[in-house]
Amino acid sequence: MKIVLENLTKKFPGRNKKSKDEVIAVNNFNFEIPDGKLIGLLGPSGCGKSTALNLLCGLLAPTEGKIYFGEDEVTNLPAENRGVGFVFQNYALYPHLTVLQNIMFPLENLKGKDKLTKEQMREKALEAAKLVQIDELMDRKPGQLSGGQQQRVAIARALVKMPRVLLMDEPLSNLDARLRLQTREEISRIQKETGITTVFVTHDQEEAMSISDMIVVMKDGVIQQIGEPQKVYDEPENLFVAKFLGTPPINVFTGEIKEEKLWIGSDFCMDVEGVRNQEVYVAIRPEGFVFCQEETPERKLHCCLQAVEVMGRDISVVATHPLLENVVMRAIISSETKVDTGRKEISFELKKNKVFIFNKETEERIYLK
Ligand code: ATP
Repeated sequence: MKIVLENLTKKFPGRNKKSKDEVIAVNNFNFEIPDGKLIGLLGPSGCGKSTALNLLCGLLAPTEGKIYFGEDEVTNLPAENRGVGFVFQNYALYPHLTVLQNIMFPLENLKGKDKLTKEQMREKALEAAKLVQIDELMDRKPGQLSGGQQQRVAIARALVKMPRVLLMDEPLSNLDARLRLQTREEISRIQKETGITTVFVTHDQEEAMSISDMIVVMKDGVIQQIGEPQKVYDEPENLFVAKFLGTPPINVFTGEIKEEKLWIGSDFCMDVEGVRNQEVYVAIRPEGFVFCQEETPERKLHCCLQAVEVMGRDISVVATHPLLENVVMRAIISSETKVDTGRKEISFELKKNKVFIFNKETEERIYLK
């Protein structure tokens, strides 16, 4: 089931009529989520992710705009008639009910032609439980389960009615690091197996990038960029997106373009044909540095070496530079490279496809030829 958002906007009024502190939590969203895909809504705290999800499921009514599920407009349809499954951060299981009863719960209220017998409900619950691999635990109470198992019960409960759309709000936040990893792989598998169009909310870019077919990066209620995770990482359209994606984070310097050459301080870094003279931000991915053993002055970025961290396959060179916006910069290079940790200065050449230049005022990307 594809989902279409048209001019979708949600404003929250200020606390009193006179106050101007109106919040536009979702600002004019226009995009289509293709059928059967998993979409990650991604952005820092307060950017409007949960509001967007609540609009989709019908817990909130939009101030403006429309929502379509397939060809049906659902903007004014009550939540219970939209055919959505919802998974929350805090599982929200009934503690006094068993796993089976929790999963069956959404089926209990079906009416008319949809009404099921107890046996049919049990069968459907077992099917959903098998999908998330908790069918061995049906008689336990939530208190007798681990966090990861509880979240699987919540997912099974959301799936038991075979929803048209599955919505997940930070479903992994309460799990420890290992379980997060395992459960996110599970979610990806379940989503592929069921083919249910899924919207997944998270502030964790690594999580969103690893499981989403498409990510929507948001800031202050405004969409910054939409696309396949790798494409957004490789081609960020503005400085915010470049900074938001990537671990370790991208290294941002202030620089200047003079006569079609990019300078960071007195270091000439690369040719930028056709770009007018201006002050810029230069953002360099950690994997965009090539360590230079030999000192030659041309096209190099000279930095002060702080530390060399061994990470196994790679090493992370930690350095500083007076025009760096971050506290320190990190360059990830192959562990086969020998870096003399006693040296004070370290120089890098830059990989052109890992360097992004942004206008200093608008912070929009300046594309190179
Ligand atoms: P988090 O990751 O912290 O959950 P979020 O990205 O999900 O954040 P939202 O909860 O959607 O963000 O909130 C978006 C903005 O709308 C915030 O500025 C928030 O303060 C505001 N907001 C949310 N709900 C209400 C409300 N009921 N009344 C007024 N303002 C609200």
